Amino acid sequence: MPESRPASHPLALAPVTAPPRTADAFARRFLHNLNFARGVALSASSASDRYLALAHTVRDYLTAHWLEDVRRQKETQAKAVCYLSAEYLLGRQLDNDLLAAGLAEIAAEALASCGVDLDELRDQEVEPGLGNGGLGRLAACFIDSLATMAVPSIGYGIRYQYGIFRQTFVDGQQVEQPDAWLALGSPWEFARPEDAQTIGFGGCTETYDDDGVERSRWVPAWNVQAVPYNYMVPGFQNGRVNTLRLWSAVATDAFDLRIFNSGDYEEAVRAQTFAENISKVLYPEDSTPQGKELRLQQQYFFVAASLHDFLDTMLSDGFDLAALPERVVFQLNDTHPVIAVPELMRVLVDERRLDWDDAWEITRRCFAYTCHTLLPEALEVWPVELLGRLLPRHLEIIYRINDEFLDSVRERFGDDERLVRDMSIIAEQPVRSVRMAYLATVAGAKVNGVAELHSQLLRDRVLHDFDVFFPEKFTSVTNGVTPRRFLRLANPELSSLITAAIGDGWTTDLERLRELEPYADDAEFRAAFAEVKAANKRRAGETLRARDGIDIGDGHLLDVMVKRLHEYKRQMLKVLHVVTTYEGVVSGRVAAEDLVPRTVIFGAKAAPGYAMAKRIIHLINAVGEVVNADTRLEGRLQVVFPPNYTVTLAERVIPAADLSEQISLAGKEASGTGNMKFALNGALTIGTDDGANVEIRELVGDENFFLFGMSEPEVSDLAARGYRPEEFVQADAGLRRAIDLIASGAFAHGDRSVFEPVVSNLLHEDRFMVLADYASYISAQERVDAAYADQDAWIRSAILNVARTGFFSSDRSIRDYIDRIWHTPPLA
Ligand SMILES: *Cc1c(COP(=O)(O)O)cnc(C)c1O
Repeated sequence: MPESRPASHPLALAPVTAPPRTADAFARRFLHNLNFARGVALSASSASDRYLALAHTVRDYLTAHWLEDVRRQKETQAKAVCYLSAEYLLGRQLDNDLLAAGLAEIAAEALASCGVDLDELRDQEVEPGLGNGGLGRLAACFIDSLATMAVPSIGYGIRYQYGIFRQTFVDGQQVEQPDAWLALGSPWEFARPEDAQTIGFGGCTETYDDDGVERSRWVPAWNVQAVPYNYMVPGFQNGRVNTLRLWSAVATDAFDLRIFNSGDYEEAVRAQTFAENISKVLYPEDSTPQGKELRLQQQYFFVAASLHDFLDTMLSDGFDLAALPERVVFQLNDTHPVIAVPELMRVLVDERRLDWDDAWEITRRCFAYTCHTLLPEALEVWPVELLGRLLPRHLEIIYRINDEFLDSVRERFGDDERLVRDMSIIAEQPVRSVRMAYLATVAGAKVNGVAELHSQLLRDRVLHDFDVFFPEKFTSVTNGVTPRRFLRLANPELSSLITAAIGDGWTTDLERLRELEPYADDAEFRAAFAEVKAANKRRAGETLRARDGIDIGDGHLLDVMVKRLHEYKRQMLKVLHVVTTYEGVVSGRVAAEDLVPRTVIFGAKAAPGYAMAKRIIHLINAVGEVVNADTRLEGRLQVVFPPNYTVTLAERVIPAADLSEQISLAGKEASGTGNMKFALNGALTIGTDDGANVEIRELVGDENFFLFGMSEPEVSDLAARGYRPEEFVQADAGLRRAIDLIASGAFAHGDRSVFEPVVSNLLHEDRFMVLADYASYISAQERVDAAYADQDAWIRSAILNVARTGFFSSDRSIRDYIDRIWHTPPLA
């Protein structure tokens, strides 16, 4: 029912205005918010009060633009991107919003005039960790670029009450703590309970006669309320502010007074607890689907709420649904939101009473799908039993989509039942299940991989039959990262140096970093660049000391591997390099003084149920403990592992790095985005020919990249011939010594059993061929040492890495999505 709108006061007709952009006005607004929103005087305020008042003040400056953009998007009915993602790994908001609003200096001056320390307030913010790793961070980079490029768009996701766990180490082993990021207040969000959607689950379907037409309807057994929380997504200094809308689940009858009055308090809150569980926690899985009922509930919950929200609130009155594909594109960030496909069909056919064929024509033009993996075990499937119990009507719709699709396959290819079985959206083994990637591929207007190599492997392997069937459907968009957060905010000194050389246009036109190329040959610039790198190392050192009590070596080569812990990413290979170096010195074969001093920084969370990943974390900590304490190394090799790798930590560590470790087995890392952040900050990459490493190397040049390891075809060949890891151990004395040292218990106080599963897995299975790439990796690391000894040449390479990787801006990714998939021009 349309709500009544209040009669306007004349003042409400004037546009909403921001406070004046002066330090004085900013300070006044800050104090006002402290007094009236927090209810404290400055002299009595806590750092948290001051942070919250500051956040509200920044918000006050952005709101006018935001309201204007919301109005403009509705009024113009321009085609919009709805980015559907179960994860957004946002990082801290304060500095991002200050930069976007162009308020950084004004705020600093204003706070100083109040005697308030801005650095202290920054540290109050708990980053919203609503994602696991690369996929969630990509979504966050994309909404930043969409706003900066003024593309009509809205991001939809889930407001998890607990984000990614906080990692601690106890005796070197990972222990997970809940991430209560909302506990101290969440000043960046606007709750809109009045815009809630009701989302059904379970129940049954019925058919009925609708004036001679047989129709279906779904009668859910229970439902929950989806309450939206709006977040502003400011573009970079362009007066644009987009919306990120995250859904929170609450019970429909939050408080059943009748039951409560009868004395059954537990029963009254039970329904509430059950409903609220849906948005309670982020699944801390990365690269593997977690086959849990609650996860499917989360997925349907957020995409149903988002679809209905868009259809109910964004379309003009009397909108003709046949024109929906000209009005919106729903981008599916991996398979998590794919249940939106049958949901749109259900809305169009059951609720809006369109013909099936017309509804399908609309649906298949409204969706596009981004695939993020190559690991077969990471392709999401839902057992039919579960899907049918939770979403019975959706299962019927999926069956019909599949039947019609398989009919068309038979029509084209004849009755090749093996092919039909292979392409079916329904898998029969091991249990009857829905293959979500296939559903997305059949329904999506476009399917994209996230780097050139990945997209090619999708077409050649994972979705080969579909590529033959729909050759026009497949495309590629290489991932990117936002230069606002990962260069401007993370590396202010390098940013200033770049701007001093080539002006500041690069922030929104990152290819202009090319203009730095000649500076690689300018000795003065090289010296300034080296000084920036040294300053960033000091800054990272201060952060690690304050945060974790870790000291990092002065003047060391900083060798950094930060990313989720997964066997395919091969942190084990890095461990073997460290152990090899260590073993060389303690056995006396290498003199400590011949080592190029190095500090190796690891950062990685393991999924709580991923036992091998957790053992590897334990091993890294154990190796670090022994290596760091052994005086025979004369402090020339250090291994540190700060716990709880987050966006905030990434912003500190990456600008300080000399060497970026991107060492996944070729053909396993879809793209990587960490690799891009490092190159843009002037770290040299040691990496395999995998994911976007391929493109990085092509751009920076072989001489500025340490390539090693098998190529993807070589990996496939070896797998086909039969990979036997023991053969590599037998053939390589250095490898044997390293593995023997781990097996001996040297890193476990002599206890051989602790790391036996790790060693045994390497020797007998080694799914990701760590041992096959070991020799090549070690010799590449020797090239690194040799190259680092020539500091002038190294800095030159580092500058060229910065100058040549502007391609990896997420603005370029978004431009590619617009040209190849979305066709949504920026809004003037
Ligand atoms: C960029 C980023 C990632 C992705 O790193 P990869 O090396 O591409 O796996 C993961 N986590 C955080 C916090 C990041 O900032």
